[in-house]
Amino acid sequence: MPFGAGVLVLVSLGGLFLIGPGRAGGQAGPLVIRLGPAQPPPPMPRVLGPAGRPLVVIDPGHGGHDPGAASRDGAVREKDVALALAEAVRDRLLVRGRVRVALTRGDDRYLTLRERFEIARQLGAELFVSLHADAAPMSDAAHGATIYTLSEVASDREAALLAQSENKADIVRGVNLSGRSSDVASILIDLAQRESRDQAASFARLLHREAATSVPFRPDHLRTASLIVLKAPDVPSILLEAGYITNDTDLAFITSAAGRDAIADAFASAVTIHFAKQLAAR
Ligand code: ZN
Repeated sequence: MPFGAGVLVLVSLGGLFLIGPGRAGGQAGPLVIRLGPAQPPPPMPRVLGPAGRPLVVIDPGHGGHDPGAASRDGAVREKDVALALAEAVRDRLLVRGRVRVALTRGDDRYLTLRERFEIARQLGAELFVSLHADAAPMSDAAHGATIYTLSEVASDREAALLAQSENKADIVRGVNLSGRSSDVASILIDLAQRESRDQAASFARLLHREAATSVPFRPDHLRTASLIVLKAPDVPSILLEAGYITNDTDLAFITSAAGRDAIADAFASAVTIHFAKQLAAR
């Protein structure tokens, strides 16, 4: 139940509009956009860690009938690598005790890309991290990790889509966008997306800085792309390709306890610094 009590349902010409009660006026805090779910939301995972701390949602890529990429001999599947890595990062973040953590999946199940970021939005996450392993099926030479954030073009396109969406029930800082012109809605959504994108880019740079001495990266290690899983308008989101599952050295690294520990340590440091900076900026 995303909106709490007192949901008002209006049936209009072409669709169903859900309007939430909004926030108390003038209350400072993270920018929040509420979108009426188009279909029932996926089951919410358990949130671990001390109450009151910011929430990091970690998303192990693929799962269930979608194995993702595979090692060259076919023995190692990306979905298993991603889950083991996500568990290592979760455990390290919980040991540090600075954030709460939830995994989008804690077992071998399939989730759509939108379900993954919708879980983060519904739980009120302040950071979303999707974990994957890269693949270059034609060559075993490609190697190294890459951090992706959402490209500005993709972000702008998503903002326009949201602003024009038929079942719009968006609330930005307590302002209900339903009934507002698409121009006003798109400005407010755009502001939220800019803030999320800036924070994601800042976290991506931090993560690379903290990981650079222990994790092999590609030369162009910070990239932007139009990745659906990064499109939550109000949750800063990054995707880590931890290394190439098709490269033997990378494969050994990302499937070893030492490799997972190195990545988990870098995440723990970057997450701690990221939220300390945010607290200082408030
Ligand atoms: Zn993947």
